[in-house]
Order: sequence, then C-alpha cells, then structure tokens
Amino acid sequence: MTDPVIRHRLERLQAKLRRRKLSVLLVTNPANRRYLSGYSAADHGIRESSGVLLVPGRGRPRLLTDSRYILQAEEEVVGSEVMLYGKGLTASLRGFLRERKAGSLGFESDYLLHATYARLKSMAEKESVDLVPVSGLVEGLRLTKSEPEIGMIRASVALNEQVFQKVRKTIRPGMTEKGIALAIEAAMREAGAEAPSFETIVAFGTNAARPHAVPTDRVLAPGEIVLVDMGLVLDGYCSDMTRTFVVGEPDQVFRERLAVVRRAHQAAVQAIRPGVACREVDQAARGVIREAGYGKFFGHALGHGVGLEVHEEPRLSPASRRKLRPGMVVTVEPGIYLPDWGGIRLENMVVVRENGSEVLNRTQDDDLNNAEVAR
Ligand code: ZN
Ligand code: ZN
Repeated sequence: MTDPVIRHRLERLQAKLRRRKLSVLLVTNPANRRYLSGYSAADHGIRESSGVLLVPGRGRPRLLTDSRYILQAEEEVVGSEVMLYGKGLTASLRGFLRERKAGSLGFESDYLLHATYARLKSMAEKESVDLVPVSGLVEGLRLTKSEPEIGMIRASVALNEQVFQKVRKTIRPGMTEKGIALAIEAAMREAGAEAPSFETIVAFGTNAARPHAVPTDRVLAPGEIVLVDMGLVLDGYCSDMTRTFVVGEPDQVFRERLAVVRRAHQAAVQAIRPGVACREVDQAARGVIREAGYGKFFGHALGHGVGLEVHEEPRLSPASRRKLRPGMVVTVEPGIYLPDWGGIRLENMVVVRENGSEVLNRTQDDDLNNAEVAR
C-alpha cells in the first residue's frame, strides 16, 4: 500500500477517535494493524503477537514490536514510528500514554486476551487513564473497499481460480482428500500466494455434507462428489471459492441438486445492490432452496465479507439488517447438505456496485466439470 492510502486511513480513524473522545487506541487485531500501517507480519494466534499499533487521536502513531520483527517493521511501516517494546507492552504503553498526556485508552475487545486486559487495567488505574472497550471501529473503515483494494482482491480471486483449475485437471479416483488439499496448497505457494487464507477443504461423498469438513485419508471412488473450498492471500487480500463436482459422469440427483444451488446463487447475485439488507440477499437464495424442498438442509448463512481477513463484515445472514453499500465485497455461497448423501456448495465473490453487483470470479463452476477430464 502506498503512503497516501495508509495516511488517509489513519486520518479517518483519528477523526473517529476524536469524536469518541478517545486519546489513544491500542490496535491488536493483525488485519487492522496491517490496514493502518502496511506492516504485513502475521500473528500466529492471539498469544503470538508480532506487534501492536498505538494510534493517538492526534499526532504520529507508534508500532511496537520485538527484535524478531523489527527489521521487517522498519522496512514496511508507513505513517507510524517503529519502536521495540523495551520493557514489555505495559511499560511501553505507559510511556506512550504519558508522552501524549492521554486520559483514555481504547482497546479492541474482540481481539485481546483477558490476561493482557488485566495487566492493562491495573496499569490504567495507576495512571488514572480510562480503559474503554471498542468493537468494530477499524473494521468499520474496512467495510467498504476502495478501487485499488478491489483490484487486489480481484487478483487474489484470479490466482485462486488459476490454482484450482491446475489441480482440478489432475484429480482422479484413488486420490485422497488430504493429498488433493496438499497439492492445492503447494500450487498456491508456487503461484506466488503469501499463504492459504484458511485451511483448504476437500471433501468426498458423504464428507461433503459437513460444511467445514477437514480433509481425511478417504480415497476418491469413481462418480463420487468432490467439494473443494479454497482461498489464498495475495498482497494481504484474501480470496474464497467453493466448487463441487463429480469425477466421471454425475448422476441425475447430483445434477438436479446442483441446479438448485446454482439458481439460489443466481438469485442472490441478482438481489445484491446498495440499500438492500444483508438478510434480504440471504432470503433470496434461501427461498429458492426452500421451494425446491431442501430448506432444512441449508443451515449456514449465505455469505460473508472478504478483505484483509477471509471472514469479515458484512455477514449475509438471515438475521442481519445491515444495508449493503457500494464497495462491499462478499461471498455468495449457498449449499445443500444431506448427511447420508453428501453436499453441494457453490461460492463466488461479489462486489456491491452503484448499479447492482459484479461477480469477481471469471470461471464458471462447470468449466471443467465434463467428461473429458479425469475419467
Ligand atoms: Zn469458502
Ligand atoms: Zn466463504
């Protein structure tokens, strides 16, 4: 990300902080940290932080990290000063609060260990600083994507599709779920992805009835369902796509159910436009599935936002009254799951546009779903 982009994001956040009368925000969520600083290090879990960002209502933010990451931070960080923790997070934070004469400290309540909170609380009490839980503040800025961000998401989607098509051509009966997942993740790395955006799902036959199946040693039999849900990270931005197919000749039941899922997908894409509530988009797809008699076999929400995180706001859930706005990027992923049979899910990524929607995926779900491939 270029300097002006990051600086603009910081200015928007700082204006929000001033409106809320927050002196300093402690940013611990790694996606928020990256969004506001360009610093790309990952956290290996909430207990393995690679740094925190302190954003004051006015003035220069500070990124704190340790010696393992300092070189990377100095190279990447834009708009903030970079410093080592020194005597640890609490002491460094105390120093920053004193320097800025801060009266309040916001923290991201969705991304902080209780143990860390307890230490902050005792420090804040001693310093007479109000400790204020904050939720969704930076996420609110990330909710709609700029054109350059959409361009990066589009590139992530395109690379993901390219990887899928490459591996799809090699899928044969006799392969295992784990083997295919491994081949996909290796191909992602070879193609230049930073990482998979989540653990790749490959599920055969009845395993495909579990929406979040974990790949096993199950061996693919001819004519079985194969469900692949995969995504990668490119320049920080995630992709997420599901394809369901049969190696060999699909039977009539599979064709019929696939047709229902496709119709549901289409209905949702057509429903997406600014001003429509998320739950209305969910309903558009769910209605098609219900009318086809599969209502109780579609348990999860229709989709979710995607950006620096693979699952972010907005959620296309039956309960969400949030209204779509131009620049939001969401998945549309209706599915039908029958425990004794298997499952079908079709997932593409869609941008909300002024005049409707734009599907970012370029491949159809059946591009390779024909008899010439992998009999
Ligand atoms: Zn997915
Ligand atoms: Zn998804």
